[in-house]
Amino acid sequence: MSKPMDPSPLQPAVDLANWSCPLPLRDSPHIVMGHGGGGRLSAELVEHLFVPAFSSGDDSALARLGDSAVVAVGAERLAFTTDSYVVRPRWFPGGSIGDLAVNGTVNDLAMMGARPLYLTVGFILEEGLEVAELGRIVEVMGRAAREAGVTIVAGDTKVVDAGHGDGVYINTAGVGAVPAGVTIGPELARPGDVVIVSGPIGMHGIAVLSVRDGLEFGSQIASDSAPLGDLVAELIDAGVQIHALRDPTRGGVAATLNEIATASQVGVHIEERQVPVPADVRAACGFLGLDPMCVANEGKLVAFVAPSDADRALALMHSHRHGTGAVIVGEVTADHPGVVVARTAIGGTRVVDLPLAEQLPRIC
Ligand code: MG
Repeated sequence: MSKPMDPSPLQPAVDLANWSCPLPLRDSPHIVMGHGGGGRLSAELVEHLFVPAFSSGDDSALARLGDSAVVAVGAERLAFTTDSYVVRPRWFPGGSIGDLAVNGTVNDLAMMGARPLYLTVGFILEEGLEVAELGRIVEVMGRAAREAGVTIVAGDTKVVDAGHGDGVYINTAGVGAVPAGVTIGPELARPGDVVIVSGPIGMHGIAVLSVRDGLEFGSQIASDSAPLGDLVAELIDAGVQIHALRDPTRGGVAATLNEIATASQVGVHIEERQVPVPADVRAACGFLGLDPMCVANEGKLVAFVAPSDADRALALMHSHRHGTGAVIVGEVTADHPGVVVARTAIGGTRVVDLPLAEQLPRIC
């Protein structure tokens, strides 16, 4: 039997025994899948645990809750971000954990207007994984990085015992350079802005679910996983006034619109029949009981653009291979700040709420 440890001088200064859980988190005293789902539960962890614990006085980069932090290094501004990938299964129509791990981080850099430059990659491997599969995953990652124009410059590998992982988890971190004069952020949407979605929605989430154990269903839908750095750079180079940008990943377009409405304290008005939902996505959502507006995408963006530039932004997107299906779906209003309202196909209106959690977990 091991002897109880003596009190150590290295004990943490924080009195962990008397740590009191912030009030909004007490409804769910244990971590549940929804805490990783990008909806309300995730937002509560960020707001009530992470931001207070990590605040350092000059915490504007953290507190802005952008897709990346924008930090000044000398005269340059860098976008800096990290994301972990736990998608199940690891291979699905149109993509894999490997290209998601590159494209997801590249896109989070691009959503701050940055040119994505460098990535790091951390692998958590489970004992027993076939080396041949790891080989295929890294090959896909190398190809995705070259396509996105980023270089993978550092990495790390850890192995956990069989049964304590799920084959492979991947973390990527990335940095990009924010061009001079470009300021894009979730808090910068303003009344009058036009809301553009860059193409058909819901494809990634439905592609993954279509091959999920126990749920397999026939679908023609492939993931839209794609790097968006080029598309954003073309808009910026053309001088399009973009105020806010976000890639509608977990929580889908509904979460993205709500996050920007809240951060900017504006209302968002959507014409629901303008929102591009492929017929196969609509059909799958129908029998799974999902709202396509809440299903994840991995190669789309939502742009809040000055009204004078909206037509030009749309034309530029249409000429880019990752924006051919772009449409204007709505506008920003001064009414109902923080609330997203959709006019439905039958002419009524409904509030588009922030989903509580991803409707089905582990899609990225
Ligand atoms: Mg994002």
